[in-house]
Amino acid sequence: MADDSKVISLQRHLDKREGGVARKGLAGADPSPEKLPGQLIWLHCPVCNTYEFTELPIPGGRRHRVCGAVVEEVAVDIDVRAEFTIAELNLMRLKELRQMIGEHIARVEEYKVRLGTIAGQTPRPYNINQDTPTALPIAEMDRLGLFISQALHNPQARFAPQGAVPPRGATDPDPDEGGPTPA
Ligand SMILES: [Zn+2]
Repeated sequence: MADDSKVISLQRHLDKREGGVARKGLAGADPSPEKLPGQLIWLHCPVCNTYEFTELPIPGGRRHRVCGAVVEEVAVDIDVRAEFTIAELNLMRLKELRQMIGEHIARVEEYKVRLGTIAGQTPRPYNINQDTPTALPIAEMDRLGLFISQALHNPQARFAPQGAVPPRGATDPDPDEGGPTPA
């Protein structure tokens, strides 16, 4: 199922690439299916217990420049085109996230302005420290870790739901009407 959602998400990316800017993103894309074999080399320092990779093979091994120990090396066969394409997709996603964050910033800035209108002056925030959120009327935290205040949370709950039973006494149905009639 996770794979399905990736496919859908990718399709959405591709659908968006109709504009000139997006088309530029994959300039030089080559539809041929030929792989481009290569290797990257993972390095492990047994002393520092760190892992990093390099694109430069050095015959005869190498030493960790931090501690001087001989590092372990494992070469990994890759399809360079596949890795390059994955990097391209990740960049597309990150640019999408950057745009989303820009929109969030604009929305929150606008809310601060509107709060100033409500107050008739520029409000000052309470002191902000680690414990501040616990003292505030926060209903939930969204996926980005942003707070949703109780005032902005779930506005539909403040209204009578569509098709709800009208208030008692308004049009109370006659209990003798409408039900199935016994034979
Ligand atoms: Zn080391």
